[in-house]
Amino acid sequence: MNEKQKLLSHLPSVDEILKSGQGMAWLDTYPRRYVIQGIREGIDRKRKDIFEGLSADLSAEVMMADIENIIARLSSFSLIPLINATGVVIHTNLGRSTLSEQVLENIIRVSGSYSNLEYDIDKGKRGKRYAHIKRILREVTGAEDALIVNNNAAAVLLCLNTLSKGKEVIVSRGELVEIGGSFRMPDVMSASGAVLHEVGTTNKTHLFDYEKAINENTSLILKIHKSNYRIKGFTDEVSIDDLVRLGRKHYIPVMFDLGSGCLIDLKPFGVHDEPSVKEIVKTGVDLTSFSGDKLLGGPQGGVIIGNREYIEKLKKNPMTRALRIDKLTLAGFEATLMEYIDEEKAIENIPTLRMLLQRPEVIKKRANKIANKLRREIKDANIKVMTDSSRAGGGSLPEEDLPTYVVSIKAAEPSVNELEERLRMGKPPIITRIKEDSLIIDARTIRDRDIEILVKGVKAAILKDAAS
Ligand SMILES: *Cc1c(COP(=O)(O)O)cnc(C)c1O
Repeated sequence: MNEKQKLLSHLPSVDEILKSGQGMAWLDTYPRRYVIQGIREGIDRKRKDIFEGLSADLSAEVMMADIENIIARLSSFSLIPLINATGVVIHTNLGRSTLSEQVLENIIRVSGSYSNLEYDIDKGKRGKRYAHIKRILREVTGAEDALIVNNNAAAVLLCLNTLSKGKEVIVSRGELVEIGGSFRMPDVMSASGAVLHEVGTTNKTHLFDYEKAINENTSLILKIHKSNYRIKGFTDEVSIDDLVRLGRKHYIPVMFDLGSGCLIDLKPFGVHDEPSVKEIVKTGVDLTSFSGDKLLGGPQGGVIIGNREYIEKLKKNPMTRALRIDKLTLAGFEATLMEYIDEEKAIENIPTLRMLLQRPEVIKKRANKIANKLRREIKDANIKVMTDSSRAGGGSLPEEDLPTYVVSIKAAEPSVNELEERLRMGKPPIITRIKEDSLIIDARTIRDRDIEILVKGVKAAILKDAAS
């Protein structure tokens, strides 16, 4: 027997490991299927290493640790919570808006039980799914009627398919935006069956451009919020008021895809180019759509508000059935929208609004708290609190640089790139950014209850070398 054969013959069998004390302990914690798969993979890896002469390290400990890692990975969820230290509040990659405890409680209460989702309790017969949010949406937006579908992309698709299939929709060239890679306005329009009639130029579109484009096949005038970009300099766009007037004159409906759709007045907070949904509704626009999980701060969804006549048409489209939201979303929306009955409460209780509108002193205090705790734990790193700016994200308020406070960390070891990676791979992952050789933790998006976990994570990432 040569050396390799000898090593191979010493490898334990799946059964031996399974019946060992360690194997039994794994079975107590993890699903049997993954324990067996993990043991099998662990042994296979070892066998391959021996064949390739890579490792003669047969120590049971090393192999068992390896197996445990495989089992733990197989048994863990893929979709997990993490800490967003980027300062981007509506971070599309990190789940956009987070929900408050009250909203989550309502989701649990409604979905953990049977409910009157489509049941009219007063009449004792079939009821309407959307009735639950109609009253509250009317109240907080001022619109006549409302509907919620899967997301704002679905809302636009549904409106165009209902009003404009095989007919023309007039849109300004300056508003044919792409949002988050997978949502291109022209593509959604063609998917809906509508024919795009572009008017104006990239930087300027005038009312007469729209008016000239109107013909007997025109079904809709669509205005789109430019969301994630702005054209500066020699520019002109037509206001929604003017478009509504034009639509009235020619008996053509007008729709506004608002993108974010903010339900509160942001002017007291210094934001002047983001009218509230209420202000938009007051212009008399026929249909307005916006996301549920951007500035509104609720679950994913596409809110459509407008005249009863048009909302009724939308509801009759079979596509509405395919795009309908479930009870979890509905419960989340109702609880979120209820907060808006009192704007001050909304700003306090809706995490997205709270993070966006918190006063810089509050962020500074949190940044100092984090920095002080870190300094206590980590001696040889340069830890500073600095001013910086964070972004709203999600294509919302692109013009706004939100003044913030960040904790900047520069350690001798590891390198800033290594540190960023270790934090990202940690449990829970901590997502940060790098600025000029320093690691940046923006205190804006750190929840107070996450501070301890954050500090522990950073400490472990920096002191990892020292420990091993
Ligand atoms: C974000 C956005 C959308 C897409 O909304 P989702 O809710 O992400 O589907 C559509 N239109 C505009 C203008 C947007 O900003």
